[in-house]
Amino acid sequence: MRGQRLEPLFVTPLREYSMSAERKYREEIVRYGRMLHERGFVAAMDGNLSVRLDSERILVTPTCISKGAMRAGDMVIVDLEGARVAGRRNVTSEIGMHLLIYRTRPDITAIVHAHPPTATGFAAAGLPLTEPLVCEVVMGLGCIPLARYGTPGTSELAKTLEPYVPHYDAILMSNHGVVTYGDTVEHAYMKMETVEHFAQIALVTHLLGRQQPLTGVDVEKLMLARTKYFGGKMTASMPMAMVREPEKVS
Ligand SMILES: [Zn+2]
Repeated sequence: MRGQRLEPLFVTPLREYSMSAERKYREEIVRYGRMLHERGFVAAMDGNLSVRLDSERILVTPTCISKGAMRAGDMVIVDLEGARVAGRRNVTSEIGMHLLIYRTRPDITAIVHAHPPTATGFAAAGLPLTEPLVCEVVMGLGCIPLARYGTPGTSELAKTLEPYVPHYDAILMSNHGVVTYGDTVEHAYMKMETVEHFAQIALVTHLLGRQQPLTGVDVEKLMLARTKYFGGKMTASMPMAMVREPEKVS
């Protein structure tokens, strides 16, 4: 049974990762894909997830599949150019975004992209989630900037994210959705949950017509606590100040 399901996918030599690690990652993508779907963070065939297997290979979800109904054998392995090296299905059209993040952030092992409704609502309203309204969000993510719009499935999309990827672990994508990433699939997924939860809280403050952001001193204390708490594991600076997209000449 084991060989029957997975054997055809392991056509390339295994290098820095073991077969059991790859199997674990496949199952994690299935699990967190299902959670994205169950929580309504994706609809239909939306969203994609990936894991960096080693310095040359990315394990990623295929295109045209519900994230709530994937199996471990559905995943695709691509090289750093996005060319398929294993798997029967076609790779997600958003592979360019994943490759950009892996290239820019050597500390990142996993990426989750979804369209959670409240956070995506902010992204469609042109509103970044940059107000320091909730202490734990400041600790975990700094703020969540808004990248300008880029057509899905084109290099334009990855380009819009480029200024933010070195500094943040969660980015709103204008008129589109959210991308989050971390050192494990679980952490990348949890950041997606945090973004959506924070968006709901921010929405409530908008409904109440009042916001009471943390002061600069409080934010500084949280930044200090974050450095202590996460230690050397955190490489992104996540500044609260970088809230507007820099002017870019394309
Ligand atoms: Zn999308």
